[in-house]
Amino acid sequence: MLRRFIKYYKPYRGMFFLDMLASFLIALIGLLYPIITNTVVKTYVPENNTKMIIVLGIFLLICYIIRMFLKFFVQYYGHMIGTHMQADMRKEMFVKLQRLPFSYFDEHETGKIMSRMTNDLQQVSELAHHGPENFFICGITMILSFMYLLTIDYRFALWILAAVPFLFFVSLFFRKRLNRANMENRKSLANINARLESSITGIRVTKAFTNDEKELEKFEESNLDFVKSKGKMYKAMGQFGSSTSFITDLFNFIIIVAGGLIVAPSKDTASYVTFVVSVSMFITPLTTLINFVEQFEEGVTGFQRFVEIIDEKEEETDKDAKNVGKLEGKITFDHVTFNYDTKQTEDNVLDDISFEIEKGKTIALVGASGGGKTTICHLIPNFYHPSKGHVYIDDIDVNKMTFQSLRKNIGLVQQDVFLFNGTIKDNIRYGNYDASDEDIIKASKMANIHDYITSLEKGYDTIVGERGVKLSGGQKQRISIARVFLKNPSILILDEATSALDNVTESLIQKSLNDLAKGRTTLIVAHRLSTIKNADLIYVIEKGKIIEKGNHEELLSKNGEYAYLYRGIEQNQTFDQQ
Ligand code: ADP
Ligand code: MG
Repeated sequence: MLRRFIKYYKPYRGMFFLDMLASFLIALIGLLYPIITNTVVKTYVPENNTKMIIVLGIFLLICYIIRMFLKFFVQYYGHMIGTHMQADMRKEMFVKLQRLPFSYFDEHETGKIMSRMTNDLQQVSELAHHGPENFFICGITMILSFMYLLTIDYRFALWILAAVPFLFFVSLFFRKRLNRANMENRKSLANINARLESSITGIRVTKAFTNDEKELEKFEESNLDFVKSKGKMYKAMGQFGSSTSFITDLFNFIIIVAGGLIVAPSKDTASYVTFVVSVSMFITPLTTLINFVEQFEEGVTGFQRFVEIIDEKEEETDKDAKNVGKLEGKITFDHVTFNYDTKQTEDNVLDDISFEIEKGKTIALVGASGGGKTTICHLIPNFYHPSKGHVYIDDIDVNKMTFQSLRKNIGLVQQDVFLFNGTIKDNIRYGNYDASDEDIIKASKMANIHDYITSLEKGYDTIVGERGVKLSGGQKQRISIARVFLKNPSILILDEATSALDNVTESLIQKSLNDLAKGRTTLIVAHRLSTIKNADLIYVIEKGKIIEKGNHEELLSKNGEYAYLYRGIEQNQTFDQQ
């Protein structure tokens, strides 16, 4: 763990050593005080040597001025080293997040992930900078001042040393508690963030259902949890702080009394005074170290939580996965069985599914909700791996393709469109960053959204709002279609692309989708008759199995599930079973 941590210092080695050097000088200057005190009290005061007293005083003053600049240097650059390291870690985490599989995001809440990326790393950064500096300065000051103590009175110095383990023992005991409390607190803060994230993104639903009270209740719950865990933490911190500071106070007590009884009689007053000053030189870094334990703990837990994410299993393909370039688009499911990790029930989400879509053909999946249609769609871009069986494109296992090259060949249009906050143009360009403005306009025309966009005051530069709230469902869907036009993939997956839209919008968008599907292998999941009827082949999916297949007429004449669904559609014009 330590080695992993040290790795992050590497790019800032130079600055780090300067920082340490400055810290070292600061520690040295600190030690001048007892030494000068000793000399002054012992030699120059009895001699009444005003000149030397002033000279030494000025020397000390100059040292202190130098120390002022050194301290500034350490404060500023030291913190900057920490901040850079924090930024590096955050970047590593971000890159990692991009590489994690869908399943990770099924399990982990956005707010919690964000909490790790912000709060936790902030603590790590503090540790990165204060850690070595504290250990270093305090260590050196303690060693040097102890050596100085030895020269004054070695017996008493050893006495003091003997008391140190006791101090450490006590602080260690409370430290453990503090650590536990800290971890708990970090979790509850992450909980609050997760709750907040969910409440804020869902605020429109909350308002629509007038569930403000309920949301507040839920929020209050985690908010109170936070107070409770913070309470525990502060209690642990209080016990820790008060007991350790009492022990250091005990030192003062011992020094005054025992020092006065042991050191003073056998030595001169000057030695006694120096001894007292030196002991405090020894004790101050000790208490700094002990107080630092708390920050240390926080930094370490933060780093552990960081490492947890960094060590998560990444999305994986076969080791010899190849860049496949442009695919033709023949899709084959070969005895595919699939389960989500979390699925508790006995039934498989997909159970021994086999089918083939010839290049350029269109097939439709229909069936009741929850049957596994979306899951099938998600296996093609290798978002999840089948537990058994294989998915092939152009007879190559998708696991043998790099994610990049595979996914470049697939256009996915889903029911809920995600738009990034930014301009309309940026959102369309998401389909292909190399596209020119002309390409974007061409794609928008094909998606039948160009006229609308140009009617807007700012045209293509209109900001869509978070997740595209400023646009209607139909408009968002068209933008997502334009995106896919721009991407120009050989495989098109339409997963209930028009289900959320009204009939009129649907039929308009359907035209763009038909254009989009031309010349591509297309997999349609839909429950509107108009969409399904023209498919080359229709599969009826139920509970993860294909229960019927054929074209529209064949399936109707079979008079099975499809015919049953179809009769439902005749009345409602949809396959919607919910
Ligand atoms: P459909 O698209 O046909 O409505 P899905 O493929 O979305 O069905 O879902 C099939 C089954 O898998 C359902 O029982 C659903 O609860 C489950 N499921 C879907 N997505 C996930 C997921 N990310 N994690 C766990 N289970 C899931
Ligand atoms: Mg679905």
